Amino acid sequence: MTPSYRALRAAVLRGEATFIAATETALNEITAHNPSLNALLEVYTEEALTAARAWDAAVAKRAPLPPLAGLLYVHKDNIAVAGHRLGASSRILEGFVSPYNATVIERLKAAGAICIGRANCDEFAMGSSNENSAYGPVAHPWLSGYVPGGSSGGSAAAAAAGFCHVALGSDTGGSVRQPAAFCGLYGLKPTYGRVSRYGLIAYASSFDQIGPLSANLEDLILAYEYIAGFDPRDATSSTEAVEPYQPTPPPKKWAWLLPEGLHPEVEQALTTLQGRLQERGFHCENIDFPYWDYLIPTYYVLTTAEASSNLARYDGVRYGHRAAEATSLETLYARSRSEGFGKEVKRRILLGTFVLSAGYYDAYYTRAQQVRRLLYEYTEELLSQYDLLALPTSATPPFRLGEKTTDPIQMYLSDLLTTYANLTGHPALQVPIAQTQAGLPIGLQLMGPMYAENLLFAAAHAMVGNL
Ligand code: GLN
Repeated sequence: MTPSYRALRAAVLRGEATFIAATETALNEITAHNPSLNALLEVYTEEALTAARAWDAAVAKRAPLPPLAGLLYVHKDNIAVAGHRLGASSRILEGFVSPYNATVIERLKAAGAICIGRANCDEFAMGSSNENSAYGPVAHPWLSGYVPGGSSGGSAAAAAAGFCHVALGSDTGGSVRQPAAFCGLYGLKPTYGRVSRYGLIAYASSFDQIGPLSANLEDLILAYEYIAGFDPRDATSSTEAVEPYQPTPPPKKWAWLLPEGLHPEVEQALTTLQGRLQERGFHCENIDFPYWDYLIPTYYVLTTAEASSNLARYDGVRYGHRAAEATSLETLYARSRSEGFGKEVKRRILLGTFVLSAGYYDAYYTRAQQVRRLLYEYTEELLSQYDLLALPTSATPPFRLGEKTTDPIQMYLSDLLTTYANLTGHPALQVPIAQTQAGLPIGLQLMGPMYAENLLFAAAHAMVGNL
């Protein structure tokens, strides 16, 4: 496993390590393991080496070192990096090169971080296993034959395989937290509005948030602090101040939300953890969450509606793939979209168009908006009585490649526990807590009040017990 960025930086400043050597180590890992993992679609070898050399030169001259100098990260293939391909792992964006940087990329760059590659993902971030990518599935970094989770499966596999300190993903319904859980990492879905969406390819705009994944909690917090904060280029960006995290005693009054039907090893891991926390003076209370049945339908009505609108811009005229033999504008649109989009994306565009159609709008879309509001209010009420909510990140450990691809409903149900925080906008942190007997990771999810990311970090620290 890669040492944490903080450890690397300290060693560099003591003269015991160099950024170039750390970058070369990561590049060697990529060369050795990326062909079988398929986690990265592109590696920025020369740019990374040049940047690392420049930071080593700064150290040699005792020049001031920016806060993230030499931190290695990858970006999901739906976050724009100027001058590089950007594809959302879709054929429809074939050949498209981004003319600008996403705000998160600008900020990490300004802080000295080094972008080492572009990560595979489910097409347009739609999926839970990374099996919907036009560039092939990503393998689980620990056990072959299993999925790494999705849709940020490439980001998760890259972070778990030691290709980087931090990976950027996007989370619309769990796509940072669930792959982080499947790969034994920390993963944060920030409060909605916390991190700028400027330069993120939109899936469902009122849900999407960029978030970091990392094997190391400190590194995740560091990256989060630099990407978070108001951005005038995103109209939904929050002006709420981002307070630097200071280790504090953890909040101790936790409400636990445990649905029926959890995988026995997941349930066991959670009850064991509850017991340990209680011995340490935490108040853990199991509460009856009344809305489990509403999460998936509400999520899929609203996100497909937004997706059908957001994806209307891929028409064969402005970006990427254009059908070769179109005879009219109409056939150009139809053929380019038919050829460019994969099956799951088409399914969601159709579903979204249906729920927004004049005859069904009130029955589905309006109703789902009402449920969303109710969920938010219920959660705010719950968080006025408890410090935070604890729930599994996924009801099951990682599943096998191909296990759910023929049944979209089964695949959708695997998002049950993560869609909740996107529906309400609250921040949620995935924390690795245990492993199954087969050696696959199990994760816990912590949800807190709006903008209280620091509270989640404090709680996670209490569980690792150090920092
Ligand atoms: N798995 C969920 C979906 O398919 C979540 C995706 C995401 O968060 N981008 O929609």
